[in-house]
This record gives sequence, structure tokens and C-alpha cells, in this order.
Amino acid sequence: MAAETSDLIDRAKRIVVKVGSALIAENGGARQAWLNGLAADIAEHRAAGQEIILVSSGAIALGRTHLGPGRPRKLEEKQAAAALGQPLLMAALAQAFALQETTVAQTLLTLEDTENRRRWLNARATLETLLSAGAVPVINENDSVATDEIRYGDNDRLAARVAQMMSADALILLSDVDGLYTADPNRNADAEHIPIVHDLTPKHLAMAGDSNHQADVGSGGMTTKLAAAQIAQSAGCATIITLGEPDRPLTALRNGARATLILSDLSPDKAREVWLKGHLSPEGSVSVDPGAANALLSGASLLPVGVIGVEGQFARGAAVEIRADDGAIIAKGITAYSSEDIARIAGRQTDQIEQELGFRGRPAIVHRNDLVLER
Ligand code: GLU
Repeated sequence: MAAETSDLIDRAKRIVVKVGSALIAENGGARQAWLNGLAADIAEHRAAGQEIILVSSGAIALGRTHLGPGRPRKLEEKQAAAALGQPLLMAALAQAFALQETTVAQTLLTLEDTENRRRWLNARATLETLLSAGAVPVINENDSVATDEIRYGDNDRLAARVAQMMSADALILLSDVDGLYTADPNRNADAEHIPIVHDLTPKHLAMAGDSNHQADVGSGGMTTKLAAAQIAQSAGCATIITLGEPDRPLTALRNGARATLILSDLSPDKAREVWLKGHLSPEGSVSVDPGAANALLSGASLLPVGVIGVEGQFARGAAVEIRADDGAIIAKGITAYSSEDIARIAGRQTDQIEQELGFRGRPAIVHRNDLVLER
């Protein structure tokens, strides 16, 4: 199984690594030596051509001592602790990655950024740009402003949403436990480790119970890890749960450290196609000329120049049908422009968008990653 895990990691093009609070902070300070090791590991993956996105907890754990004694309990105390700790977290990470001559980029997300398609298009474009620029995006929840009802609350699920949004192939949860067991290994000596899961079932969720061994910091237990794995699985992304504690945790994993691998039988591309086809009801349509229709069929994005008409009223982020000039549906996709704006830029060159709309929008009306052909 260990070989299966390291093969999967080696083959992955884009990996989301999630690090829990207990790994980042100890007695209110950053665990700099461990972070340096993590950055060295990530640098190796990047040198092998892989893209890495880091989802890091630890803001509250690093900030809380600055609030006074005791653990922050009220929501506003946690939010203040996060505001105090987030710059300390980034400083520690920036220092670790500087040793690898790598730049880090902070991105704070709220639940809305991954659940609302209009915002999701923006968050994804920003992260794609950071990756192309060679930076390591470091994501945390925007704890200081997110309110209780609309929080992810734990970074396991946040990391899975990021993996889904970014079509990652692998999600590695570095944790205080080396995977899933048939029962809580701390309470039950007969608990057996499960190295690989093909299909997550309620049986697995029942095994997870809800334990977070070092529950002093952080908020995710095994249940949230499996919830994260479920999100990733539906997005064509495999999840690996392993111990973060070793000095070079990703090297340890590649060398066979104990882990649970939760597979997905879809690829990220296929999962996106299924999602686009099945879960979005079209709110309107865009008609295109034969040149654009051919370009779409050969895998291009839909540019304004090929658009000859727009039907229906919809906002940016809506699902739309793309029709040929004879009305036949060729594709379905998520639009980066509202129906009103499309009507204004139809037939125009991409570099005329700004002049027409007064803002510089996306080059494509529907990006090819947000498009599925109706064959
Ligand atoms: N966002 C929180 C922090 O940075 C951590 C959430 C979690 O423990 O998963 O402190």
C-alpha cells in the first residue's frame, strides 16, 4: 500500500498539503525547525515539476498568547487571536520558504469563496496566477471576519474545497494520527490500521468516532478528515492521511510512512465534467458563429469575438448553454460575464473588453476549464 501511496504522489500534478495547528505551534511559538523541513520537502516536489498549495492552520494557536492567559473560548476571542497570529504564521512560513528561495503568498478564504460560483471563479484565477508565478499559495480561513454560521470551522474541509476548486490530484492531510483505524487506537488496543479505502462508506465514518488527540489546538478530528476525503473523492482527488510529526513529513510519506490512502475512481477532469453536466441547470444561452463552434470542439475557450447572441438574464458565474448558429447545443459552461455584459462585448476582440465595459475582465467568456462539450 505504501508503494501505491508514493506512486500516486509521484504522479500527481497538483497537490494540496494541509498542516494542522499542533504541527505549526508549540507553547504559543512557531515550530520553526519543523516548518523548515516541510518547506524543504515542498521544494523537492516543486523541483520535480509538481504544483503545491499549502493550507495552513495555526493562526489561533500562535496568536492566542497575545490575548492574555487562558484558551480563547468566545468566537470574538478566537477571531482576534487569528488576527494576531496570522502574520506570525506567515512570517514563520516565509522564513522557512526563504531557505528554499521560494516565495509564499497568503490567501484567506471564507466559505463563500468556494461555495459561490461567482467568487469561486475569482479565487481560482488568483490561485492559478500565483502558481504560474512560481509562488506557494498559503491558504487559511479568513477567521477574523467569518462568522460562526458561515465558517468552514476546520481546515480539513477547507483544504478539500481548495483541492476541488483547483482540480488537484492529491490532498495530503498532515495530522496527529497516521490514518484511519477500525476503532479509536487510543482507546482500543485491537484497533487496526486501514491502509487503503476505495469507497468511503458510513462504516468508515462510524470507525472515525470523533477524536482529536491533542485537542488543545486545532479543530478537526478524524470525522472532519473523512468529510474532507469525501469532498475530494467526488472531485477526482485522492486523500492521504498521515502523521505530520516527522521532521520531513512528505519525505517520510514517500519512504513508506504509515498512512491511509482514500482513492477516487474519477480523474479531476472527469469529475469536473460530471459536475458541469449533472449539477448545473442552465440559466440562459450564448450563440456562437461557426468559427467559434469549431474552436470549442477542438478544445478552445469561448472568446467574445465568436459570440453572435445571448438569451436569458444571468449573472457572472451562471451555467449557460452554448449554441451553434442553427440553435444546436454544443456545450455547457460557467460564464465569466453576465448576460448584459455579453450583449455588449459580443463580436468584439478581447482587448476591446475594457473599453466597452469599463473594467478589464477575463479574456474568455467561458474558459475551457469551465466548459463541457455536449457530444
Ligand atoms: N483556521 C484556524 C487557525 O488558523 C484553524 C482551523 C483548524 O484547526 O482546522 O487557527
